[in-house]
Amino acid sequence: MNNRLRKITIVGGGTAGWMTALILDTEFSRTSATKDRPHICLIESPNIATVGVGEATVPRMPKTLREAGISERAFFRETNASFKLGVKFCNWNTDAKGKRIDYVNPFAHGQMLGGLEAAEYFLRFGNGDRDFTQSISPHDDLGRLCKGARPLGQPEFEQRFGYAYHLDAVKFAGMLTDVCTKRGVEHIRDEVKSVELDEQGNVSHLMLEHKGRHDIEMVIDCTGFRGLIINKALGEPFKDYSDYLPNDRALALQIEHPDPEKIESLTRSTALGAGWTWRVPLYNRVGTGYVFSSAHRTDDQAADEYLEWLGDSGKGATPRVIPMRIGRVRNAWVKNCVAIGLSGGFIEPLESTAIHMIDHAVRWFAEHLPTRDIAPSLRSRYNRQMNKLYDEVLEFICLHYRLGNRTDDQYWIDARTEMKIPDRLAENLELWQHRLPMAHDVEFATLFDFRVFFRRFCWASRSMTRAMVPASGIACVR
Ligand SMILES: Cc1cc2nc3c(=O)[nH]c(=O)nc-3n(C[C@H](O)[C@H](O)[C@H](O)COP(=O)(O)OP(=O)(O)OC[C@H]3O[C@@H](n4cnc5c(N)ncnc54)[C@H](O)[C@@H]3O)c2cc1C
Repeated sequence: MNNRLRKITIVGGGTAGWMTALILDTEFSRTSATKDRPHICLIESPNIATVGVGEATVPRMPKTLREAGISERAFFRETNASFKLGVKFCNWNTDAKGKRIDYVNPFAHGQMLGGLEAAEYFLRFGNGDRDFTQSISPHDDLGRLCKGARPLGQPEFEQRFGYAYHLDAVKFAGMLTDVCTKRGVEHIRDEVKSVELDEQGNVSHLMLEHKGRHDIEMVIDCTGFRGLIINKALGEPFKDYSDYLPNDRALALQIEHPDPEKIESLTRSTALGAGWTWRVPLYNRVGTGYVFSSAHRTDDQAADEYLEWLGDSGKGATPRVIPMRIGRVRNAWVKNCVAIGLSGGFIEPLESTAIHMIDHAVRWFAEHLPTRDIAPSLRSRYNRQMNKLYDEVLEFICLHYRLGNRTDDQYWIDARTEMKIPDRLAENLELWQHRLPMAHDVEFATLFDFRVFFRRFCWASRSMTRAMVPASGIACVR
C-alpha cells in the first residue's frame, strides 16, 4: 500500500505559517512530480491577530525569496522593505575612559579568514581605538551613509556582500498568502476550537468553529506563543530560559520617519536602563520597541523610559505591550505535529534570529519528510538538530550580556553577573583568555560562526578593564 503523506495542515497565518507553506511548496515542486506532492492546507483564525512584530531579517531571507521565485523588486514594493546590512549596537559598552562605544555586527561573509588576519590586525593596531569590524567590512560606513547593498539598476539578489531586509510583517504575510494560494495552497479562515487525538496520541482531527471536523495526517503548529497543539493538546513541556535571559516583555510602537530621504540600512539596538530598544526603518515608517525585564521595570516605568527615548516621535502615544515566552519546547516534533515559529520557542529578538530559525525548521522538516508512519529516528534527528539551533542562538545572545560593561543600572549588573551562561560558552570564554577564537571552537553555526564571536569579542575587549577582559589571544599575538 502506498503510505505516502497526502496532506500537511498548517495552523496559523503569521510569518511562521506562511513561510512554512512557501518553503514546503517550493521544496515539493523541486523534488516531486505534481501527483506525488502532499496537499498543503493552511488554517488561520480571522479573530486572533498575529504578533505583528518581527520585521528585521538576516541574510538567509534573500536566498529564500530567490529560491521561491519571488521577484525582489515586487517584494520591496509590497512589503515596504529596505536593505539591512547588519545590527548597530548603541550604548551597550563604554571604553576604559567611560566613553560610549558603538559597534556594528555586519553581515560580512568571507571577509575574514581567521587567526592570521586577526593576529595581523592586533599586531598593527593593538587593542586600541580602532574598530576591528570597520577594518574588515564596509557595512558600518554604508549603513551610516544610508546606502543599500548595491547601486540602483543592478540585477536582483546580486550579493556583493551579505545583506538582508527590514520588512512590514503584516504586509509580508499578506504577500505570501497571495503567492501561496496562487500556487495551490488551500487557505481556510476559521478558528480551531479543539484538537482530538487517536489512541496512539497522534492528532487525528481538528474541530473548526464553522467548517467542523478537519482530518489530520501531519500538522504544523504555527499558532504563536499559544502553542495550541504542541503544548495544550500534546502536553509537550516548555523549557524556560529565564535563568539565561532576563528580558520577558516588550513595548512596540510604529513611528514616522524623521527624514524619509534617509533610511539607515542597519537595525539599531540601543541599550536603555532595563533592556534595549530596536529601531527598524522601513520605506514608509520606522518600527520601534523596548525589550525589557519585568523584574527590573513595571510596564509603566518601562513605557516612561521608552517614550522619553523616542522624544517628539512618541509624544502622546501608547505603546503596545507584548509579553514574551522565552525558551523552547522540549521537542519541536512530537507524534504527527511539528511546532514552528513562536509555538516552538523564542529567544529574545536581539540579532533578529526568529525568522531565520523558522526558515531552517521548515527546510529540515522537508528533508525529514515522513510517510504516514513516522519513523521515530526521523523525529529524534530533527529534534536534535532544532535543539542545536536554539543552543547556537542562545550562546550568542548570552555573550552580548556577559560582555557588556555598564554599571549604571542594576539590570546590567544582574544581566552580566547573575544570569547563567551555557556551559560551552563558559568553556570558550575561558579558552579565549589564552588564544584567539578558532573555527572549530564553534561546532554548529547556521549564522554565528567563530568570526562573529571574534568580532563581538574584539569590541568588548576595547571596553573592558584588565580584570574583566578575557585578556585573550590578544596577549598571545603581541
Ligand atoms: C517583541 C518581538 C520582536 C521580534 N522581532 C523580531 C525580529 O526583528 N526578527 C525576527 O526574525 N523575529 C522577530 N520576532 C519573532 C517574530 O515576530 C516571529 O517569529 C514571527 O512573527 C512568527 O510568529 P508566528 O507566526 O509564530 O506567530 P503569530 O504571528 O502570533 O501568528 C499566530 C497565528 O496563529 C493563528 N492562531 C492562533 N490560534 C489559532 C486557532 N485556535 N485557530 C486558528 N488559528 C489560530 C493566529 O490567527 C495567527 O495567524 C519578534 C518577536 C517579538 C515578540
